[in-house]
Amino acid sequence: MAEKKRSWLFSLPAQMIVGLVLGVIVGAFVSADVGATWFKPLGDLFIRLIRMVVVPLVFATLVAGAASITDISKLGRVAVKILITYMVTTAIAVGFGLGFAELIQPGVGLDLSTSGLAAKVVKAPSIVQTFLNFVPINPMEAMAKGSMLQIIFFAVFFGVCLAGLGPRNKPLLEIFQLIGDTMIRVTNAVMYYAPIGVFGLLAYTVSKHGLAVLLPLGKLILASFVATALFCIVVYGAIVVFYLHMPVGRFLKGIFEPWLVAFTTCSSAAALAVNLQACRKLGATKSIASFSIPLGNTINMNGTAIYMGVCAVFAAEIFGMDLSMTDQITIVLMGVMAAIGTAGVPGAGLIMTTVVFTQVGIPLEAVALIAGIDRILDMIRTSINVVGDVASALVVTKSEGDLDSEPYTEG
Ligand code: ASP
Repeated sequence: MAEKKRSWLFSLPAQMIVGLVLGVIVGAFVSADVGATWFKPLGDLFIRLIRMVVVPLVFATLVAGAASITDISKLGRVAVKILITYMVTTAIAVGFGLGFAELIQPGVGLDLSTSGLAAKVVKAPSIVQTFLNFVPINPMEAMAKGSMLQIIFFAVFFGVCLAGLGPRNKPLLEIFQLIGDTMIRVTNAVMYYAPIGVFGLLAYTVSKHGLAVLLPLGKLILASFVATALFCIVVYGAIVVFYLHMPVGRFLKGIFEPWLVAFTTCSSAAALAVNLQACRKLGATKSIASFSIPLGNTINMNGTAIYMGVCAVFAAEIFGMDLSMTDQITIVLMGVMAAIGTAGVPGAGLIMTTVVFTQVGIPLEAVALIAGIDRILDMIRTSINVVGDVASALVVTKSEGDLDSEPYTEG
């Protein structure tokens, strides 16, 4: 008994919470300069180490995942099911954010000057161009640039063709499986540094923005937090209780580590390896987890989708705009596209809000305004982005009749 307690206190999540709390405390007492000089490098090192893992991990696990589903009709079915689950949950998420923000009106009563702020604009690509951009001209270039959608496209294509080789594919398939397993070990090694990295990230953020700066935008933070929490309770709650028939405690325990990694690093990519393990522990088969988690890591962003909806309403309100029904439908459609196109790195969603805002004519100064508190919104949305990947993977596993009710243990 005593040993169990001791082991949790020394566990990685516990150490990360300590890093987080110490980071907030220290950040509140030091100047922005000290934060940038002394603490930012600690956080940057963590983000760099973790991003180093992403391309080889995604490529190897997706190839191995696609190639190990030897039944091609099963692969097609799993792919279609997972994509539909991603799309549906993402669209519900944008609608949720939008509807909830309309209800509590986070922007009403805010009169913040935006003069002197400038936002970086991202032009919304056409739908045709969006799909064309999935296909890399040169897969090596896509890997060098870290273009995740292109890497995913090539990896799945390659994996399916590798499966088509039949038993001859064994040596190559094993190599990809080994690369994936090795990258997970690399990530686990990197995670020993996580508590210090988290400390550095939080100390820097709080020293830069200060706790007081957060107050004027507190309502936006609150709206984003409550909409996200409600979405989790309603959508993931329904999935876990009514579809998976899984004890809620087991699900929460299972997703805690990836949730915390995403919350503190604001990067889904950073949480990829731990999310893969969490998904397996919750009962997904290796092939479905290795196929859908890396895929969802890049294209399934429920938290970012909620954020798009909340921010659109907030921004429209502070500029005194009324959103028509057509505007709201446009926000949902563009929100889904923008969430799919958002990279799993800190701050990516903020840039993508310009895609949504431009479509409905919301002034882009709003982006610069939100930027001041985006780190906090990013923590909320990123942590839900990764939870959504696990929930969707479990839904598909269950629908295939493969859900393992016994907890998986590494061996
Ligand atoms: N930081 C988010 C993620 O990594 C993306 C975003 O900014 O919305 O999932």
